[in-house]
Amino acid sequence: MKFADNPQQATEYLRQAIPLMIKNRVPPNPLNYALWYAYVSNVLPELNNQMDKTLEIYGTCPNLISEKLFRDFLINDEVENAEVIQNALFSVMGDLESSASSTMQDTEAYNEVLQDSLSALRHSSDDQSLESIIQKLTVNTETISESARQFQKKIDDAQAEIKALKQELETTRQDASVDPLTGLFNRRVFDAEVNQLAADTEPDVSLIMVDIDFFKKFNDNYGHQMGDKVLQYVAKLIKDECSEPLLPVRFGGEEFCLLLPGMSNEESAELAEKIRKKIAAIRIKQKKTGEVISSITASFGVARLAPDETPESLIERADAALYKAKDAGRNNVQISH
Ligand code: GH3
Ligand code: MG
Ligand code: MG
Repeated sequence: MKFADNPQQATEYLRQAIPLMIKNRVPPNPLNYALWYAYVSNVLPELNNQMDKTLEIYGTCPNLISEKLFRDFLINDEVENAEVIQNALFSVMGDLESSASSTMQDTEAYNEVLQDSLSALRHSSDDQSLESIIQKLTVNTETISESARQFQKKIDDAQAEIKALKQELETTRQDASVDPLTGLFNRRVFDAEVNQLAADTEPDVSLIMVDIDFFKKFNDNYGHQMGDKVLQYVAKLIKDECSEPLLPVRFGGEEFCLLLPGMSNEESAELAEKIRKKIAAIRIKQKKTGEVISSITASFGVARLAPDETPESLIERADAALYKAKDAGRNNVQISH
């Protein structure tokens, strides 16, 4: 198998591979690096095929599958790959380095001219030789200034390129994973995480589903903009209760969920109860009328992943518990056993 020999092309592949890895929540280790380099360079259609299928199913490429794909498709070319990747990185830095060394050579040459000029000055007395020394110095000073200017420009360009690349990565990451209204993780991240957690040999994870009560009516009464504010407020309450590794998510519309690795049903229900109380305590003063809105509540469904259960089934059970909470009069927490 052959990868691009041309450093520009190889650099381009690297630039495409990194945002894709981030977007698909793949850890940027050397193995994945090689895998995604191969993916964007499109030299192994069957690898791309299998990778696409994996992404479709898991929303990411789980470590075990990455290792298998690496073994199946790339292991024989491991040495070659490492060389190509290294060459690409070298070529990015190489340009700058050659400018630096040519500037240094120019500086050394200039130093020599200065030394020569100084000794010529010491040993000459007539005006003509003085003038020729000054002329020579002027020309050389211009050369060295130009060389330094060019080097500075190369540094500026490289810095601008790095900044643009960083922004590109940040935007890709944000777009792919964060809900713009609330700043919480989106469904996509949730799907990837829950699949990864469920794929563990001894999965240990619970789920809280949250749904704001009578939110359609709230929008009708107070307007969509006020509704958006409530969503942001509720999202912040939820986020404040979630330190690592708890994952707060906007599941869609006025529904949120919390993915809770390592938590029992009871612990999850306790957390849900805490958030429920905080939401019920929200008071918003309407500027126009002065009315204090105190009717915001939410219902909660809690479930813990059973051995051999699929993520879909976990979500269904948490959802069923949530509907039980709605049936029981809303503004309460129900557990699926
Ligand atoms: P229930 O207590 O049964 O959950 O009643 P509900 O009215 O909350 O449920 P329903 O599913 O009938 O309505 C959900 C409402 O949520 C409808 C929609 O206008 C509102 N909604 C969904 N997304 C947004 C949003 O981004 N902003 C605002 N302001 N409202 C939203
Ligand atoms: Mg709903
Ligand atoms: Mg609702």
